[in-house]
Amino acid sequence: MTADRTRGLASEGRPVDDVIADLAAKRDDDVRWRDGRTFGLVFDGGPGVHEAAERAAMLYLHENALNTMAFPSLGRIQSEVVGWTADLLHGPDTAAGFLTSGGTESILCGVKAARERGRTERGITAPEMIVAESAHAAFHKAAHLFGITLHKTPVRDGWTADVEAMAEHVNANTVLIVGSAPQYPQGVMDPIPEIAALAASVDANCHVDACMGGFVLPFAEMLGRPVPPWDFRVEGVSSISADIHKLGYAPKGVSVILHRTKELRAHQTFVFDGWLGGFYASPNLQGTRSGVPMAAAWAVMQHLGVDGYQGLTRTVLDNADAMRAGIRAIDGLTVLGDPTYHLLAIAPDPDAADPIDIFAVGDALQRRGWFHDRQSPPDNLHATVSNTNTGVIEEYLAALRDSVDEVRGASTDDRSTGYATLE
Ligand SMILES: *Cc1c(COP(=O)(O)O)cnc(C)c1O
Repeated sequence: MTADRTRGLASEGRPVDDVIADLAAKRDDDVRWRDGRTFGLVFDGGPGVHEAAERAAMLYLHENALNTMAFPSLGRIQSEVVGWTADLLHGPDTAAGFLTSGGTESILCGVKAARERGRTERGITAPEMIVAESAHAAFHKAAHLFGITLHKTPVRDGWTADVEAMAEHVNANTVLIVGSAPQYPQGVMDPIPEIAALAASVDANCHVDACMGGFVLPFAEMLGRPVPPWDFRVEGVSSISADIHKLGYAPKGVSVILHRTKELRAHQTFVFDGWLGGFYASPNLQGTRSGVPMAAAWAVMQHLGVDGYQGLTRTVLDNADAMRAGIRAIDGLTVLGDPTYHLLAIAPDPDAADPIDIFAVGDALQRRGWFHDRQSPPDNLHATVSNTNTGVIEEYLAALRDSVDEVRGASTDDRSTGYATLE
């Protein structure tokens, strides 16, 4: 017997208490999101939301959403959550969608639907898609998986998609053009009406990636914040991805993919009638499928209601505004572009005589317990501000000022920008 638990499961089992104590101890080095010092990754809706999610998860821990004929409750949960989301995003009565495991899967489904529509309606056998360099990496994953040629176009000075640059790549094989609401890296809104019109000009799909904005923008608009047109009210938008496991405050593993019509949705599903196991139909990329994230999303949305989401959104946008103002007031720092919602990127002031090494600032913040994801190019620190960070913004800004003072004139050798790891 070896103590190395990475090789070989022990033949003898252990008592539950022991096992759980071990598991809890494993988490010692994980980021402490409960303290509000993490800008991203975990979005904390507060104690009531936790209770709703946890109790729903316990109810559905063992169910399987693979077969909604065996578990009709999960079929209803899916239609209800999708229906509520379609309503928030001003989908027409024809709008239809599914729940998926996350933003990436929703995007994969949207891209696959665009490819299939191009093939069946326009006979396209060498499909192409166009995305700005700010669009999420999941679109590149989709192009890679589904054999689509991807054209990556530059952003304008304010980090929004350059629609003229996109237009240069439009041709008879274009099946999809993508816009983001807002895009992740700098948090700004792409010009969705122009992108949708460009797509419509060749009968291609326009997918709006609202993984981040889907559960923020509708409530920001209700609160009277300026929100440019981005949802199904924009003609030519064919599909939208919106993550409930981000600012929808559900635990991980749930997102919505919506299409303008059932016919458009039909292009994303897979049915197979030639298997010894019988007729097989699946709405997304999964087979066996946990009911937990679906039930938890249902419970969180019901618990919050529109009023609850509006309240959280007001707090989050106030947090983000305070953060942006505080950052811009620090000598040597700037916020990239003009993001107005819950995302922001902190960069060195390019006009400074001796620009600060922003990754060294990130290290100094981390020593003080604050965690940002790093991005490049250009070097910057990313923040997804959420209710997790409520009540700590002043403390954060003080830590940021200290960190900047500490690293002025210094630099770090660590240039890594890992957004995810493969381990
Ligand atoms: C998070 C995100 C995605 C990917 O979603 P996952 O849930 O991480 O798979 C896609 N687009 C945007 C804009 C995002 O913020």
